Amino acid sequence: MPLIRDDAIILQSLAYSETSKILRLLTRSHGVRSVIAKGAMRPRSRFCGLLEPFTVGIATIYLKEGRELQTLGGFDLLRSGQSLGRDLLRFGGASLLAELIVRTAVEEHQPGLYHRLLRALDRIECAPAAELESVLLAEAWGLVADLGYAPILDHCTACGRALDPDEDGVFDYPAGGVRCRECAGGVTGRTVPAAARANLSRLVAGVAVALERTRGYWILLDRFIAHHVADGATIRSLPFLAEVLQP
Ligand SMILES: [Zn+2]
Repeated sequence: MPLIRDDAIILQSLAYSETSKILRLLTRSHGVRSVIAKGAMRPRSRFCGLLEPFTVGIATIYLKEGRELQTLGGFDLLRSGQSLGRDLLRFGGASLLAELIVRTAVEEHQPGLYHRLLRALDRIECAPAAELESVLLAEAWGLVADLGYAPILDHCTACGRALDPDEDGVFDYPAGGVRCRECAGGVTGRTVPAAARANLSRLVAGVAVALERTRGYWILLDRFIAHHVADGATIRSLPFLAEVLQP
């Protein structure tokens, strides 16, 4: 049976039967893989408690042609994901990134994605509490853009005119970007003031801008993902985050 050995980040970990676990892994060179870790929940398993979300290690995977679910042969720990699990907001943000990657997953190598997630998890783990929401928004919007779903913010999605820096717009969710005021008639999306549009552009570029209020940015992210990334499926981390963030 062919075998691969590759660096991997655990994206999701689900109990399967009494003793086994099913994992989604983002590997460095083999895309996203679903694997079964047999016996992982037995007390004396060689995986003994390792297989939790955001843990990084070297995975040995046995490949069976034509199967979606492969078998995990071993997992050598490089870094535990435990500290992310201790803070609900950090855990929710990291889970959102993982879910976005699973949702858009391919088995082929996506250059840069593994390192992007590794850096993002570091940044989420280390961000001071006061900056954490901005960091989460920047990582989520940045990932959405990297996965190929960048919102259109610099010109009107209807008439194509470049927007002035001080111009307000209206977000058109189905079109995936803003409309100018003249084209906004009948569009039910959120008004995006010029300053918010500038902040959003920086978040999409991965910059954690200081935000006075974050709620509008979360709502925009939630609806944008629902329209463009989730493809009708539910992204469970978003309601979880909304609950954690409630004042
Ligand atoms: Zn227009």
